[in-house]
Amino acid sequence: EKKGAARRKPTFDPRLAEYRGVWVFVERDLSGVHPVSWELLGAARRLADQLGSEVGAVVAGVPEEALDVDSREAIAYGADVVYQVGHPVLAGYRNEPYSKLLCELVKRHKPEILLLGATSLGRDLASSVATTLETGLTADCTELAIDRESRALAATRPTFGGNLLCTILTLNYRPQMATVRPRVLPSPAKVRDRSGQIRKEEIELHEEEIVTKIAQFLPHVGDQVDLALSEVIVAGGKGLQKAANFALLEDLALALGGEVGATRAAVQAGWIDPQRQIGQTGKTVRPKLYIAAGISGAIQHRVGMESSDLIVAINTDPNAPIFEVAHYGIVGDAVALLPLLTRAVRGR
Ligand code: FAD
Repeated sequence: EKKGAARRKPTFDPRLAEYRGVWVFVERDLSGVHPVSWELLGAARRLADQLGSEVGAVVAGVPEEALDVDSREAIAYGADVVYQVGHPVLAGYRNEPYSKLLCELVKRHKPEILLLGATSLGRDLASSVATTLETGLTADCTELAIDRESRALAATRPTFGGNLLCTILTLNYRPQMATVRPRVLPSPAKVRDRSGQIRKEEIELHEEEIVTKIAQFLPHVGDQVDLALSEVIVAGGKGLQKAANFALLEDLALALGGEVGATRAAVQAGWIDPQRQIGQTGKTVRPKLYIAAGISGAIQHRVGMESSDLIVAINTDPNAPIFEVAHYGIVGDAVALLPLLTRAVRGR
């Protein structure tokens, strides 16, 4: 928003007041619930408390027993009401039935805000739900708040290649939808004895009406790391000079019980698997320790790692932007320093 610019006065359609509550779509797959769902429930709780409304969670899939477990977890993470939909058609994610169930539930219960993870599944589902409901969707947010003047969701996301942050309000449409990347929001505390309600919802779904058929689930081949969940990351950039020097990062990561990450420049040089790219077009991480070796600290990299608890940067250039976000900085040659650090860690 331009500083000093006159703000457009929101015109409020009174029918929008029928919409109440902050909802989270709980993303589940064969391995369980994606942690971003719990992070979103933490944010939903804060937003709902400001609005004086309830937190709702949508838990859908099969089998019924697993849905019950996930619904109780959702309550422990902050949901007041869980809308549970069990149906054989929901075994394995497909856009059509999931989109239909979410649209039906929204029409039935009219939530004011609907949040999903900015994962592959969440991005696919959120966009089709927003299109069907003809409402606004702010994708890939890094911050969620309530705008004081309009009481609308203020969803902040990077724009212009990550150089600016913009805050988007959906004023005249409901529900206000947003997706948020994993690990951007803190995970809320789990309160086991929290009370909440589980409502089993019926949605008419028919296999013969669904165009997409699941033929087979194939395991992902290649690098399977989930950097978003790593507590220690040793990341490298173009300053490491060549692919072979990434072995130095692996040694240190192994000694620290962590994982190796990288910049886009290192990925584009073919030095490392794209799964390990951190930043705007890669993963967002929030480890306890982030070591950045030979990384300049471009804004597109920083947006993916700057909320790490402790950042240590090694760079030959004392003016490298990475030092602006680092808690500890070493000005020096990473190729020479990494083996010394590994030796020191191993000798502890
Ligand atoms: P460089 O910028 O080349 O920096 C290398 C650094 O290493 C320098 O600071 C140098 O001083 C230092 N150095 C050199 N030799 C040594 C040595 N021996 N020891 C220690 N330090 C040394 N980038 C990402 O990382 N992630 C993204 O998701 C991402 N998305 C992008 C999206 C868009 C739309 C755009 C336009 C760009 C994106 N980028 C992204 C690219 C980003 O702008 C930078 O180009 C990139 O992060 C730079 O990578 P780097 O730090 O490895 O390389």
